[in-house]
Amino acid sequence: MNRSAITTVWLSPSATSFSCLCEQCLDAARVGGATFADALAGASVRGAVAAESAVTVARCAAGHEIVLRRVERPPGLRRHDERQMQLA
Ligand SMILES: [Zn+2]
Repeated sequence: MNRSAITTVWLSPSATSFSCLCEQCLDAARVGGATFADALAGASVRGAVAAESAVTVARCAAGHEIVLRRVERPPGLRRHDERQMQLA
């Protein structure tokens, strides 16, 4: 299996830390015949993320890029504004 997709992790609006698994490391461990426990341990990535940043790039121990994206806040107010604009 040839997967080169960058791991993307979605953060909640208030998250200031993350914990995830690097998919490329998981694949490499799987191909290399590592046990599932070793694969999980080797692919585990965690760290801190600034509360104000919408997108951050982190790296696993092996240097693979991991994109951290923050989900938008519930768009309740914005949706109300759009409806008002449509009526105008
Ligand atoms: Zn990795």
